Amino acid sequence: MTSRRTFVFRAIPVTAVLIGTAGAAFSQPARLEESDAVATALGYKHDASKVDAKKFASYAAGRNCANCQLYQGKAGEAWGACAPVGGKLVNAKGWCAAWVKKG
Ligand code: SF4
Repeated sequence: MTSRRTFVFRAIPVTAVLIGTAGAAFSQPARLEESDAVATALGYKHDASKVDAKKFASYAAGRNCANCQLYQGKAGEAWGACAPVGGKLVNAKGWCAAWVKKG
């Protein structure tokens, strides 16, 4: 027979894990969609080679989010947050007109 105290001590860790998991899921920013208004305004593409270079003359081959000063992802990560697009996740291989050479 399970006493009330035993039940409480067993239930608390399970509840804490569930709350922690839910919190982690909600804390992950959304990925920026190429169709978002800010993305279209900045010419953002998940794949920098797809950038409209005629429209966005500041684009040059080799420039991408991973080598942008504003990219907040860690080296080797495929996606990272970016402040100019509202903190959403951008692709490391992407690019937009707000690109700044990493110092
Ligand atoms: S500001 Fe930099 S990291 Fe952000 S989307 Fe533009 S190129 Fe990528």
